[in-house]
Amino acid sequence: MSKKTCRYTDDIQTAKQTTTQVLQRLNELNVPSTPVHFTLLYEMVSQTDPEFAEELANLIRQHDYTDESVRPLFRELLKRIINQHLPTDEVSQLINEVLGHLESWSTESAKHQQGLTDNIACLEASQSYDEIMHCLNQNILPPIRKISENTLSLQQQMIDSTQIIKKLKRELEHVTTLAKTDSLTGIPNRRGFDELCEEHIKLAQKEGSTLCMVLLDLDHFKKINDTYGHLVGDSVLRYIARTLHAETKGQDAIARLGGEEFVILLSDISYQNAHNVSEKIRKRIATKVLIVKGHNMPLQFTSSFGVALYRAGESADQLFERADRALYLAKQNGRNQTCGEHQL
Ligand code: GH3
Ligand code: MG
Ligand code: MG
Repeated sequence: MSKKTCRYTDDIQTAKQTTTQVLQRLNELNVPSTPVHFTLLYEMVSQTDPEFAEELANLIRQHDYTDESVRPLFRELLKRIINQHLPTDEVSQLINEVLGHLESWSTESAKHQQGLTDNIACLEASQSYDEIMHCLNQNILPPIRKISENTLSLQQQMIDSTQIIKKLKRELEHVTTLAKTDSLTGIPNRRGFDELCEEHIKLAQKEGSTLCMVLLDLDHFKKINDTYGHLVGDSVLRYIARTLHAETKGQDAIARLGGEEFVILLSDISYQNAHNVSEKIRKRIATKVLIVKGHNMPLQFTSSFGVALYRAGESADQLFERADRALYLAKQNGRNQTCGEHQL
């Protein structure tokens, strides 16, 4: 891995000193020495990214450094690390190599070509069969052989480069997909959703078809985390993603926008039917019962929905804004319900 793609470049001694300070911090803050806290505090102590370190230091100053408050920061850090590992260094190194091969091939070929041109005069001046053969063997064939060898060697270098290009292309595709996917639920994240939304809007405009956006926010999710713990909370989020997947069709899109907020884009559907789909999902979620080890009460949860219909020519943000206001209304009206933009 090149230096630029590696986030932590401390030598052994510096890393040791940083680790000692990190362990002290873990102790002072009284948080478990999990990889999450270790990594965050290492970031802060080593000042790898001054702004990020400052953000963490602020949390500590405000006595607000907790498992929960640092979760978004840790996610942010992971995102940065993933982006940093885009194989851009390898790509530029490869391009330089290919250009180098082409340049030396071109220089060598031109040299031999020139030699060949010069020696054609000697061939023309040859008087006898022996002189012709001598000139061919001494002056003409060697540069032709050189040109041929040079071209073969370029061909081999190009075959090798093609293999590397294919490997990099696969890596790039993998990293690009990762950057657009929510690691917890495996469905698209906000970045992925932004792209999907633009595609859906373009298609709706081109074909004059309808498009509805449904926003979903889990009700009192904080309480679920507080009562059952974050791992159970995470498992609820994965359940929601699976449910959305099961309740939508191939051309629809789903995504987790962050926290406990999800979105569904329904294509080719009326406002009323989008409302119906939303209600069907809401009821399915509300009747789900999860038995959690160590808890007598089974876990049940509800969700609120906001529905908006795309208006020709408007932007994704405008559509989102109406769906969000409808969702807000659903929360205000007591949660566990769907509100549509018609009620605004
Ligand atoms: P409301 O009904 O008004 O939406 O209340 P709420 O508690 O759902 O909303 P609030 O915004 O107060 O809290 C959202 C909670 O979601 C707080 C945060 O800890 C939790 N959360 C955000 N991301 C994750 C995650 O990835 N996993 C888990 N388990 N919890 C998360
Ligand atoms: Mg909520
Ligand atoms: Mg929310």
